[in-house]
This record gives sequence, C-alpha cells and structure tokens, in this order.
Amino acid sequence: MSTRDESGGPLLEVRDLVVHHGQLRALSGISLTVYPGEVYALIGANGAGKSTLLRTIAGLHHPTSGSISYDGKDVTGLRPEKRATAGIVMVPEGRRLFPSLTLEENLKVGGSFARKGPWTIERVYDLFPWMKERRGQKTAQMSGGEQQSVAIGRALVANPRVLLLDELSLGLAPVIVQRIYAMLPQVLESGITVLLVEQDVSQALRVATHLQCLLEGHTTLEGTPDEVTREQVEAAYFGAGPAAQAEVSSSTPPDPDGQRSNALWPGLTPSSRAC
Ligand code: ATP
Repeated sequence: MSTRDESGGPLLEVRDLVVHHGQLRALSGISLTVYPGEVYALIGANGAGKSTLLRTIAGLHHPTSGSISYDGKDVTGLRPEKRATAGIVMVPEGRRLFPSLTLEENLKVGGSFARKGPWTIERVYDLFPWMKERRGQKTAQMSGGEQQSVAIGRALVANPRVLLLDELSLGLAPVIVQRIYAMLPQVLESGITVLLVEQDVSQALRVATHLQCLLEGHTTLEGTPDEVTREQVEAAYFGAGPAAQAEVSSSTPPDPDGQRSNALWPGLTPSSRAC
C-alpha cells in the first residue's frame, strides 16, 4: 500500500516524456509524480535513460514531447538557470566541480542561482564538519568521496526544493557511499524533496520512499520499496520476459551467489532491505 501523502498535490510531475539524443530515442513516454518530502529513486541498468530523465527535468535536454510541471506550473520550456532559481537543482553525474577552485569557492558557485532559504555555506560545514578546515584546499586534491560531498554542498547552497542526485555512488567504495548518504535525513528535515538516480539497487531501496525502474527508455516497474518484490525488481531491471521472469521467480529467495544477483544487489541482505 502506498504511504504517499498526496493531500497537498505533487511538487514535480512528468507526463509522457519523450527525449531523443539525435536519432536515438532515449526516453519513450516516461511519467512520474513526486510529492513533497519524498525520496524518489530511479533505478535501471546502464543506458536505461535515468540520467537523461534527470537532466531533462533540470532543463539540460529538450524533450521531443511531453511535459514537466513543478509546483503546479509548466516548466517544460524554462531555461536551466531559471529552474535552478525556482528550486530544481542537480548534483550531476561525475560531480562537475571546478578542480582549480577551492572547496569554498566551489560552494560559492552554488550560491550564484540561489533561492532564499536555510542553506548557507556555514550550514554545509555543519553537515560535513571536515570541510571547514579544508575550505581553502583545491577540490582537485580531494578524494572522490570528498568531491561528491562538495558537489552536494554546492547544490544545497542554492536552496533547492527538489534536489536531483545523479549516481552519488558512482566509483565510490560502499563505506564512502554510506557516509555520503548519511547526509540525507538532515537534507529531508530542511524541507527538501529528493529525486535520485542510483544503479546500486540495495542503496536505492534503503533510502527511497518510492521507486521507478527504467529499461531502454521505458518504465518497467513503479511502487514503494515495500510493494515491490526482489523478483519483480530483477525482472524489471534486466528486462526479463515472461519465461525469464518465471525463472527468476522460481528461485525464492534468488540465488545470492548468482552473478546477476551480485551485480544488482551488492551487499544486500534481507535485513538491510528493511532499513
Ligand atoms: P548510465 O548509468 O550508464 O549513465 P543511464 O540510465 O543514466 O545510464 P543515459 O545516460 O540517460 O542512461 O543514456 C540513455 C541512452 O542515451 C544511452 O543509450 C546513451 O548512450 C544515450 N545518450 C545519453 N546521453 C547522450 C548524448 N549526450 N548524446 C548521445 N547519446 C546519449
């Protein structure tokens, strides 16, 4: 059963979005609805279209058709910087920091298109206490996990209402990923809604209140982590047809040593699923 609070209406609504990269149809009629306070996770294999969806919501790709509404207003044609000042802010895949700038200078960049709100550079230092004494260090000299935290801080300084997080865990060790995701409760407490892309399904299920799986530009599964079974997620993720689905379902629980399961559920145990 859905635990969504739909009383106040959605904050973000994507309808029938079709996006092309040249001749390639990357998204084929994707819809999603994100309510305030949610952590909405987009999962799916490489090339499924997750980043394209996030980037289109941020205004970095123009859809061929479909619409994007934010706070009840159609923003489909709005420029990226206008979306940022309206509160749609993205942490891009690969962080995209300015490596020759210091940590603090990178955070200041985030303030360029900032809304008014609770997040300041000082508050980011409270969230990530290690940053304060290294504020003058160039981000090029920092580890991947530290750079990812700076990228999150830069987005927070813009005071988003919707924070788009693209593959936070990419290239990072699991322990670092856990540390980075530890910021999420404080971010949510400050009133921010989160839409994230995550290839690590176990990580996505740990934090999400709602999820959607994409495969080759199509939606293959949608629901809350409690509503979907592991078998359904595997079938949706890999595009298993009826025969393959039956095969996946016949192993309950799925073989934890199987190659597919390991790739899809790194470190997932039944108890971690319940977090
Ligand atoms: P990944 O996890 O590998 O980033 P993804 O689910 O985020 O995968 P996208 O990056 O959105 O997928 O890519 C969807 C499809 O669009 C892929 O086939 C990809 O090669 C293609 N694509 C993405 N960006 C571009 C681009 N700028 N130009 C051309 N093709 C692109």
